[in-house]
Amino acid sequence: MSVQNFENALTEYSGQAGKSKFFVRADYSMKRITSFRIGGNADLAVYPADAKAFAFALDAAKQNNVPYIVIGNGSNTLASDKGFRGVVFVTTDMRKVQIDGEYLTGGCGVLLGSVGTNASTAGLSGAEFANGIPGTLGGAVYMNAGAYGGQLSDIVYSTECYDLDGGEFLTLDNAAQQFGYRHSIFMEKNYIVLSSTLKLQKGDPEAIRAKMSEHLQSRREKQPLTYPSAGSVFKRPEGYFAGKLIEDAGLKGTCVGGAMVSPKHAGFIVNTGDATANDVLSLIEIIKEKVYAMFGVALECEIRFVGEK
Ligand SMILES: Cc1cc2nc3c(=O)[nH]c(=O)nc-3n(C[C@H](O)[C@H](O)[C@H](O)COP(=O)(O)OP(=O)(O)OC[C@H]3O[C@@H](n4cnc5c(N)ncnc54)[C@H](O)[C@@H]3O)c2cc1C
Repeated sequence: MSVQNFENALTEYSGQAGKSKFFVRADYSMKRITSFRIGGNADLAVYPADAKAFAFALDAAKQNNVPYIVIGNGSNTLASDKGFRGVVFVTTDMRKVQIDGEYLTGGCGVLLGSVGTNASTAGLSGAEFANGIPGTLGGAVYMNAGAYGGQLSDIVYSTECYDLDGGEFLTLDNAAQQFGYRHSIFMEKNYIVLSSTLKLQKGDPEAIRAKMSEHLQSRREKQPLTYPSAGSVFKRPEGYFAGKLIEDAGLKGTCVGGAMVSPKHAGFIVNTGDATANDVLSLIEIIKEKVYAMFGVALECEIRFVGEK
């Protein structure tokens, strides 16, 4: 791998564009880019300014054999204590939003909160369920994130992505994104989400804002939002709620190092201050074993682990 050649390629690209297209930081702590506030350093963090620059940088990483990962707001990600040997692309500078009638198009790095604000201001309804999910649009499409009876697949009309294997830009309609419960085609293929278009409906801005506030209020009441976390650690097992199983197993408040099963919501593991990724992984194993032993249910992680174990 040649990180230096990769960096040189980015510098040359920005030179040709006449302005900097990448914010680049070396030896960057993953604590700064994950909501768990956990993780060692990445060799390089690169924030692309736009879709073309992002695709160029992805190709450059591939050509120079530099391993890469993509992070949006890092709110569903547990980063290794050893960090990441390679480049972490962070999409949060790609946050343009455009509205055309009932269609809202957002860059992959726009936060769902901003999607909600833009939609409500334009009197567009449909995205209220996502208010309070602390992710980017790209991360939410990748995860098919959902809450309060809605999920991204209900409103995504199309997604523009970069096919890193084929080296081409693709526009996928809803069906082509193969959405399922916390699943999308982006988990199967080397497709990087660049932007998504949501199909919303005309609604009353006041009613939309009221629904959004209601969801936020409900989150504040039920979720441990004052501690760093990555939200629900496990997927919902068929016929059960992971949080309820964990609570019934008597695991609320169980700690490994600085990682704790939240006493407020047992589906969350929180970082009480100095948790390591290994603390979280050990706690996950304890939870899985106990829940399986007591209820015969095999919990599956929803959060994504990056880096070396
Ligand atoms: C307090 C809290 C509450 C939460 N509540 C919910 C909830 O109600 N419902 C829910 O579904 N989730 C919830 N989450 C989890 C998380 O916010 C969502 O999964 C969110 O969609 C993740 O977005 P992100 O940008 O932070 O993704 P990241 O954590 O940055 O990335 C998640 C995955 O997506 C991939 N990815 C990110 N961007 C791209 C891209 N542009 N192209 C390709 N792949 C990409 C990453 O590689 C990674 O595998 C919660 C998290 C927290 C901390």
